Amino acid sequence: MAVPKRRKSVSAKGKRRSHDSLTPINLTICPMCKQSVPTHRVHAECLAEHMKSGAPGRMPF
Ligand SMILES: [Zn+2]
Repeated sequence: MAVPKRRKSVSAKGKRRSHDSLTPINLTICPMCKQSVPTHRVHAECLAEHMKSGAPGRMPF
């Protein structure tokens, strides 16, 4: 199995890991059920409710 020839320095490791951090998900309150849901997404549970109700067109927001 191939093995690295040289140990990576602390600074090289740090530079690589400078891109590793994750950003938290933006949450907002769903206007229909008042639960917290990710922004810019249709809330699946409310969409299902909406489809079941048979109301035409877009969701009411
Ligand atoms: Zn909802």
